[in-house]
Amino acid sequence: MRKKINRREFVLAGAATAGLGVGPRKAFGRAPAVQTAGVKPVVVASGNGHRSRNSDGETCVEVAFRKMTAGDDVLDSLIAGVNIVELDPDDASVGYGGRPNADGVVQLDSCCMHGPKRQAGGVGALEGVRAPSLVAKAVMDHTDHHLLVGDGAQQFARNMGFKIEADLNTDNSRRQYLEWKRRTDPGHYLNPEERLEAGIQAGLDMVAEGIIPEEEYWGTINCDGINGQGEICGVTTTSGLSWKIPGRVGDSPILGAGLYVDGTYGAAGSTGRGEANLYNLTSYLIVENLRNGMSSKDAGMAGLKRIQENTVESRLLNDEGNPSFGINFYIIDAKGEYAGVSLYESERSRYAVCTENGAELAPLEGLLQRSNG
Ligand code: ASP
Repeated sequence: MRKKINRREFVLAGAATAGLGVGPRKAFGRAPAVQTAGVKPVVVASGNGHRSRNSDGETCVEVAFRKMTAGDDVLDSLIAGVNIVELDPDDASVGYGGRPNADGVVQLDSCCMHGPKRQAGGVGALEGVRAPSLVAKAVMDHTDHHLLVGDGAQQFARNMGFKIEADLNTDNSRRQYLEWKRRTDPGHYLNPEERLEAGIQAGLDMVAEGIIPEEEYWGTINCDGINGQGEICGVTTTSGLSWKIPGRVGDSPILGAGLYVDGTYGAAGSTGRGEANLYNLTSYLIVENLRNGMSSKDAGMAGLKRIQENTVESRLLNDEGNPSFGINFYIIDAKGEYAGVSLYESERSRYAVCTENGAELAPLEGLLQRSNG
């Protein structure tokens, strides 16, 4: 029997024939309360979203934008984009070749959210699969659950036909791991009496000495997009904090922390110190701020302020009493207005944006100036 076409599908199909770049729509069940049409499509991502390239020379945001505006599902488009970064052996912060945990094992975290479908999926501490975002999507598509972790996540991936590899390290990630091991890790296991004096210093020293690029120490990719019909999705994927305690899961796979999408109001996602984000569920907070009428930038700044207020342990503070770590958020609202915000203003901090005018690295707007202390 021929499917009856409703008015909205008819209008969109008409737009496609008219060459307006709108592809066939999929039915998502009950329609969201508000569907903003006529939005200028945009994809935003962390800076590595416009660094790694596929064999055609395209970056994550370029691929995501191209696919999305050709009518592909927004989330599928974003995931196709982050796959480039996950599979890039030279990006040591995401997927294959990501920096391993304290035992030398690469454990990956990812989640994704589909705004129109109101669906989500995630994996934590997943070993052996190069592109965890695809497994997060499989959790979304094929289970009644939102988060699978550890061996269970790997078993699920195996059952779904993903290739499981014994080791996702590259020569680069293993060399850096050995260097870190050489410096030991007193910052990981804190003595309750001495925790205020403990540091997160060994890795940061390696950044200062140029062994690890600064933008990769807190590496992850978050990528969010909205198409011309106002459909918003997002994905975050990471190898997590370098040399973490095995089993440590950061913010990246946690809905509301590493990513939050409300199909009606917007999306926010994060890179940086996951613990600060988990404590405040900042992506959720930012999207709630959008819901309450804030602009993308103001919503992000309010999220960063919450993190600043809730950072009180002296080991996490610099000489000026401000957080000693970095954290960034990438935000899109339902009108397609976007922002990239960072706890600290820095000339080098950039995020990736792709619009109809092409892709670029834009400066992140900072809440605080870096102290000299
Ligand atoms: N947010 C990630 C985590 O805490 C790491 C990062 O972005 O550097 O696992």
